Amino acid sequence: MKVALIAHDKKKDSLITFVKINETSFSGFELCSTGTTGQRIMAETSLKIHRYHSGPLGGDQQIGALLPNGHLDAIFFFRDPLTSQPHEPDVNALLRLCDVYDVPVATNPGTAMAVLNYLNEKRSEDYE
Ligand code: PGA
Repeated sequence: MKVALIAHDKKKDSLITFVKINETSFSGFELCSTGTTGQRIMAETSLKIHRYHSGPLGGDQQIGALLPNGHLDAIFFFRDPLTSQPHEPDVNALLRLCDVYDVPVATNPGTAMAVLNYLNEKRSEDYE
């Protein structure tokens, strides 16, 4: 299963905390991320992550491009709803493609837990 991790600057600590608490689950996924998010998570966990460009430099679009080919099972994208982003169009495009291709996307810790439980359940069904 392949999962993408992205967080806006003010939400990076929150995503890192979530990933650390659930590191065992995340270690079973093939992980990719935008540049800085992946760098921070790798510095604070023992996870290996394929890093694309930083979000404002096209990383969200690179991750979005994986969706039409069915290469992503879920995205954990902790957005900052209170700060305007220079790459807002890219963020909207990524979320739009998640809806087009019916890919679960978690934008906050509550939803992230629900999506992670779903992925863990799906993974154990795949092993049966
Ligand atoms: P970053 O990009 O991980 O490179 O900070 C995230 C974003 O702002 O979309």
